[in-house]
Amino acid sequence: MPRLTMKRLLLCSLALLTACQVLPAPSPTARFGGRATVHNPRLSDFDVEHYSIELALDPRARSFAARCTVRLHASIDGLESVALDLAGLEVNAVHDGALRELSYEHSGGQLDIALAQPLAQGDFIELAVDYAGLPQKGLWFAGEREGAATHVFTQGECEDSHWWFPCWDFPSDRATSEVRVTMPAHWTSVAAGELIDSTKTEVTRTDHWRMPTPHPAYLTTLVAGEFVVQEGEWDGIPLLFLAAEEDQHLMEAAFAETDEALAFLSEVTGKRYPYSKYSQACVDNFPFGGMENISATTLTSNVLTDERGRRDRAATGLVVHEAAHQWFGDLMTCRDWSHIWLNEGFATYMTLLYFERTRGVDEYRARLRQAQQAYMAGDQGANRRPTVHNIYRDPMDLFFGGHAYPGGAARLHLLREVMGDEAFFAGIRRYVGDNIGRSVTTADLRRALEQSSGQDLGEFFDQWFHSQGYPEMSVRWEWDGRNRQVALCVEQTQEAGDGTPRVFKVPVDVEVRTASGVSNHRLQLDRRRHRFVLPCDERPTWVRFDKYGSLPASVDREKRTSEWLAIAGQDDDVGGRVMAVEVLGRVLAGSKDDDLADLIRGELLNRLSGDSSRFVRQAAVQALAAGGGTRAAEVLCAVAREDAEAQVRVAALSALEGFVGLRGDGLGDEALAHLAETVYEDGFSWQTMIAAASLRRASSPEGAFFWLGDRLHEPSPHSVLQAGLLRVLSRCDDPGVLPQLRLWAGDHDAAPETRVVAVQALGQVGRGQREVRADLEALLKTRLFRLRSAAINALAALGDEGSDRLLEAYYPSSVFPRERRAIEAALRH
Ligand SMILES: [Zn+2]
Repeated sequence: MPRLTMKRLLLCSLALLTACQVLPAPSPTARFGGRATVHNPRLSDFDVEHYSIELALDPRARSFAARCTVRLHASIDGLESVALDLAGLEVNAVHDGALRELSYEHSGGQLDIALAQPLAQGDFIELAVDYAGLPQKGLWFAGEREGAATHVFTQGECEDSHWWFPCWDFPSDRATSEVRVTMPAHWTSVAAGELIDSTKTEVTRTDHWRMPTPHPAYLTTLVAGEFVVQEGEWDGIPLLFLAAEEDQHLMEAAFAETDEALAFLSEVTGKRYPYSKYSQACVDNFPFGGMENISATTLTSNVLTDERGRRDRAATGLVVHEAAHQWFGDLMTCRDWSHIWLNEGFATYMTLLYFERTRGVDEYRARLRQAQQAYMAGDQGANRRPTVHNIYRDPMDLFFGGHAYPGGAARLHLLREVMGDEAFFAGIRRYVGDNIGRSVTTADLRRALEQSSGQDLGEFFDQWFHSQGYPEMSVRWEWDGRNRQVALCVEQTQEAGDGTPRVFKVPVDVEVRTASGVSNHRLQLDRRRHRFVLPCDERPTWVRFDKYGSLPASVDREKRTSEWLAIAGQDDDVGGRVMAVEVLGRVLAGSKDDDLADLIRGELLNRLSGDSSRFVRQAAVQALAAGGGTRAAEVLCAVAREDAEAQVRVAALSALEGFVGLRGDGLGDEALAHLAETVYEDGFSWQTMIAAASLRRASSPEGAFFWLGDRLHEPSPHSVLQAGLLRVLSRCDDPGVLPQLRLWAGDHDAAPETRVVAVQALGQVGRGQREVRADLEALLKTRLFRLRSAAINALAALGDEGSDRLLEAYYPSSVFPRERRAIEAALRH
C-alpha cells in the first residue's frame, strides 16, 4: 500500500483512543421520533435591554468561566422572578445591581432567578450571573496544537446562544450587547460591533467589543484564536478578514467581491450598510457554510481556496448570502421561526440578484431555475408544507427541505414578475425602510409591497406563502390555419385537498414565435382548465408557455421534436434552451430513426461548441452522452479538455464513464484512460482532476488502487483533492480498500474532509465487518461535528443490529437536531 507505514497505523489507533468528549450515559429507555407541535410566538414578562458577557477562555480544558450581566425591564407589574434560558453550564452565583445575592433554580435549560423585591412595570434591573463549564454547543472550541484548541467560535442560530450565555433565546427580543474576552496573549478576536478596548499581560489579552444596535440573542457572536487579520474598507466602513495563517494567501481572492456586494445590497435595499464595521472570519469544524452574526459573519474555512478551487466553486455566493443577511435577518429579523423564509429566502434571492447584476441575466435565470427545482424536489410527500409554517419539533427542522431558501427565493422572483420591476424594487426598499430594527412577519412584507404597487396581494400571499404545494400542469397547443389562431390548452393537475390549492391563480407569459416575428401574451390562469385562443397568421415555430420560467411549477409540455430543436437552437431564454436540450437527450436515447438522431446530435453539438451558457453546455453533455456513439465520445473528450468552465469539463468526464467497456461504439478503454491521465496532469481544477481520476479508475481498473494511492498526498487547499481521490479509491475493487479507509477514518492528523469521506465510504464498504463498527463507535465521541455526522450516517448505512444499538445508545446524548433526525430515520427502517 503506498505511503502507509506502521507509524500511520499506530497513530490512527491512538487517535481513536484519545478522541475525547465526555458524553452522558445513554438512557436505556431512550425514545425516538416525537411529534411536531404548533409553536406560537414566545411571550415574556420582561424585556432585555443589554447583555454584557465577560468570558475567560481556557483553550486547553476547552472550557470557560464567565459572568453575564443582563439589564432588563419588567413588562408587567409585580414581576417577582426572571426566567432566563441557560443550558449545559454550571451556575455559581447570581447577584442584582445592588450586589445582593439572589436565589435561583437552574434546571431543564432554564435559570429561574427570584428577585429581592417585585418590579413595577417599566422598572429596570441588572442581574449578574456567574457561570462556567465545558459548552456542548453555542460556543465551540476548534483546532488543536499541543493539546490545546487553537480557536473558538460561537453559533447561536436557532436557539443555541443560551448554551454559552444566559439570555432570552428567541428571535423577537432585541438587545444591545458587549463581549469582553480574555484569551491567550497571541490570540486575536472579533465580535459584534466595535473593538473599544484591548489590554495585554504577558500571558493574556483581553478584548472588549460593543454592539450598540439592538439585535436578537442568536446573532451575538465571538470568534477568537490564532488568526491572521487582513483589513480593508468599503465607503468608510472598516472591513476585517480573519483566517488561519496557512490560509492567508487565499483570503484576498475569496473576499474580493465584498465591496461590490455591500454596495449592491445598500442600493437594492435603499439602506446603506448599517453597522460600523463588517468582518468575515473563517473557522474550522464550522457546522454550516456560514452564519450572518450581526456585523461579524463566521464562515467555514473550506471557502478559502486557490485558483483551481475557484474554477469549481468560488466563495462569492456564500459571501453575498451572508452579507445580505446583515439587512434581511439582522437589521430586521423574523419575529418567530415560522417566518424564517424572510431571512433565508431574501438572502438567497439577493444572491441571485447580485449574479444578475454582475454576471448577466442568463446566470440569474439559470440559477433561478435551479432554485425552483431544488424547492420542488424538497416539497414532496410528507415534507410538503406551506412556506410560513409553525409546526415543527426543532426550529432547525424548518431550514432544510427547500422551503425557506430556494422556495422563498422562487416566490420573490414570482412577485417581481407579477408586480413589475419598478413596484417590486420600490416595495423592497419600503419593506426595509419601514422595518429597520424590528421583528417582521410575512404580513409586513405584503403590506410594503401592496403600498408600493397599489395591488391587492392577498390571494398571492394566501396561495404561495400560507397554502402548500405548487402547480402541476399539462400544456399543449395547436395551430388552426383556417382561422389563423393558436389554441393553447392549459390544465392544472395537482392533487388538491391536503392544503394544496386546486387552482393556482397566477399570470403567465406566453411567447408565440413564427418565421416572421414574435408575439407575447400575458395570460391569467384562474381555472383548472383553460383554452386560450391567440391570433397567429402562420404556423408557429414554437409556443413557449411561461417564457422565462417564472413559475415554480412542474409543467408537462407536449411538443414535436422539431419545436424542441428550434427552442434549443434559437430561444433567447437560457432556461428554454436547457429544457429543450434535456428533452432532446431523452428523445435521442430512445430514437430508432437515424435521420432524427443525426438532427438532434447536430443541435447538441452546436450547443456544446457555441452556447454562451455553461448551464446549456452542461445539459448538452448529458444529452449527448445518453445517445451514445463514437462521435459523441470524441466530442466529450474535447469538451473535457477544452471547455472554458470546470463544471462542463467535469460533466463530460463523468459522462465518458458511460462509454467504458463499449467496443466499436466508443473510443476504447485505453484511449479513455489516456485522456483521464492527461486531464488529471493538466490540473485545470480540483474537481476536473477528481473526475479524471474517476474516469481513470473506471477505464483502467487494474492498478487503479495504486495509481490513486500514489496521488493521495498531493497538496491542495483543505485537502479537497485528497478527499475526492479517496472517494474514488473507495470504489476500487481491491482488498486494500477497506484497510486504507479505516486508516484514514481514524487518522487524527489527516484533514477532516478526508476523514469524512473515509467514514462515509466505510458505511458502504464495511458492511458485515465487526471492526468497522467498532471504528465508527469510537468516532461517535469525536468533537469534529461533520466527522461525527458521517459516523452516524455510516452506522445507519451498515444497517445491522449492532449498528442500530450503537445509534440507539448515542441518541439521548446528542444535543444536535440534525444528528437526532439522522438517527431517527435510520432506526425507522
Ligand atoms: Zn442564510
